[in-house]
Amino acid sequence: MQKPIFNGPPSPEEFQRQLQEFMRQHCPAGNVSAFPRPQPASTTEALDSGVEGGEFRFDYKPRDVKAYLDRFVIKQEEAKKVLSVALCDHYHQVRLAMEGKAQSNYAKQNIILIGPTGVGKTYLIRSIADLIGVPFVKADATKFSETGYVGGDVEDLVRDLVRRADGDVARARYGIIYIDEIDKIAAAPNMTGRDVSGRGVQTNLLKLMEETEVPARAPHDIAGQIQAMMEMTQGRGRKQPATINTKHILFVASGAFGGLDKIIQKRLREATIGFAAASKAAIEEDGVFSEAQTRDFIDFGFEPEFIGRLPVRVVCQQLNVDDLFQILKTSEGSIIRQYEQSFAAYGIEVLFRDDGLRRIAELATEEKTGARGLMTVGERVFRDLKFELPSTAVKRFVVTRELVDNPPAELEKLLAEHEKEERVVMRQLVHEFAQRFCESHGLKMVFTDAAADALVSQALEQSRPIRDLCAEKFKDFQFGLKLIAQNTGRTEFTVDVDAVRAPDQVLSDWVVASYRTETKKN
Ligand code: ADP
Repeated sequence: MQKPIFNGPPSPEEFQRQLQEFMRQHCPAGNVSAFPRPQPASTTEALDSGVEGGEFRFDYKPRDVKAYLDRFVIKQEEAKKVLSVALCDHYHQVRLAMEGKAQSNYAKQNIILIGPTGVGKTYLIRSIADLIGVPFVKADATKFSETGYVGGDVEDLVRDLVRRADGDVARARYGIIYIDEIDKIAAAPNMTGRDVSGRGVQTNLLKLMEETEVPARAPHDIAGQIQAMMEMTQGRGRKQPATINTKHILFVASGAFGGLDKIIQKRLREATIGFAAASKAAIEEDGVFSEAQTRDFIDFGFEPEFIGRLPVRVVCQQLNVDDLFQILKTSEGSIIRQYEQSFAAYGIEVLFRDDGLRRIAELATEEKTGARGLMTVGERVFRDLKFELPSTAVKRFVVTRELVDNPPAELEKLLAEHEKEERVVMRQLVHEFAQRFCESHGLKMVFTDAAADALVSQALEQSRPIRDLCAEKFKDFQFGLKLIAQNTGRTEFTVDVDAVRAPDQVLSDWVVASYRTETKKN
């Protein structure tokens, strides 16, 4: 068979024609007139068409937002305050714009979040997005390239918001885009290992941060384009604006900004030369990031226009052992709840004692990844317990310092202790068996301690209920002992280990002996 000759991809026009032909053949009900092209929509047009049902409401005050954040995010007091104010400002402004009362000179409150990893930067913003009910998207600045060919396209971030809003373009327009590792796209000549296209990515992001119309379907998203067309032809699906206006999208750029502290310190030092060391404290404190000014970010390698579009600067502090302890103990999002739930699924109750929580916090601090370390340590500590305990009869345990330090040893202890408790109950069940036997047959079986222990061990080994084991082992005793009682008048019988090991043999010996006694009597 001859292979078709491939002359490269068709031109967009040719592709469109072929696609229309295909649709005409396969969707006869449809009337495909044109490939839907993104239409620039003015804000008001979009509002009219999109938001009706989901009209944007916002009536929070900064204190409400801060109070909500306090439930989840520990420490970061200053950051919570600044963010609460900035977020309220932003969304009140959005509301005013929707009501047609927007201030023309209002500058959007985009945010730079500075702080080491795992201290709650993302968590703060994600929690706010949850509270307000707007979609949230997070991406790494490093995944973008200037051209959008090698890495992702910054416009995909906006389209991701639509996806997060379940396809609702109107809601996507008030979403929050969080860009992590923004410091990696700074292009200062004195920075090493930087991405050369950093400047280009800054320019592309700048366009989004200002105001632009992003096509709701990516030009390269063929599947999406086809789906849109099919929905249109078949007259189903929501009627959506073809573009997303970015005017009201809030941008948060975050990073650790290693090296920025040196730049700030240098500037502060230069400023204090000749003065008394009044602001020296600020230079030496780890709070130096709070002194960051626009020119420090420019020296760090950001374009002035780019940094100018991020006017709100928020600093998150490193978390110490106490903070991590508080996160475990009091945050509503504490991983402890997750562990409680996953054990509860097997009917196991966990009690976290403070010394156990503190030990987890101490070990997590050594990881140097902020609160993320809590998850790493938790995973390590509970791995074996999660695996083993559901298959045992252990129904509760306490997380102590000892358990955190040596989970396998504590697991073993837990199982041994449990067995000890279980043995006590099982021994009682053996005596209860004897009591019921007596009530039914008027004959007393007295189990020696050794015999009861032997029965318990066998039941545990065979994982059988001890009552069943006794009933099976001594099933003939009601007849045998009755016979002996008739022969000898005896009504009490001591059952020892031998009788447990070979009950039939022992019973038969006893019966034989009872006949001898009877013969002697006669
Ligand atoms: P980053 O600062 O790197 O953005 P995250 O906000 O993603 O870190 O934190 C990772 C996880 O650690 C969060 O999902 C949250 O569970 C927990 N966490 C981090 N910081 C805090 C904090 N200050 N209070 C409560 N939990 C926190």
